[in-house]
Amino acid sequence: MEEVETMETLEEFSEDALDHRVDIAEEYEFDCPHCWEKNSIILDLSVEAQSYIEDCTICCNPIEISYRAEDGLVIEFDAKSIEQ
Ligand SMILES: [Zn+2]
Repeated sequence: MEEVETMETLEEFSEDALDHRVDIAEEYEFDCPHCWEKNSIILDLSVEAQSYIEDCTICCNPIEISYRAEDGLVIEFDAKSIEQ
């Protein structure tokens, strides 16, 4: 039986995989701009930049979410309140 490869090898491996990755989803926490309660959403990091409207899970007010992702990491995130 062969030895299991170390974590180092795994890291190199995932770097290679970036070119043909499919979906990278990450849970992200932010404060609601209406009630300041913590919300968490799942961001699709395979998309470079995205913005959409989400309702706060606590106060149900609409929040404009916009973010940018690079190499599977969130590099910019903004949660704004929307005039109703
Ligand atoms: Zn809220």
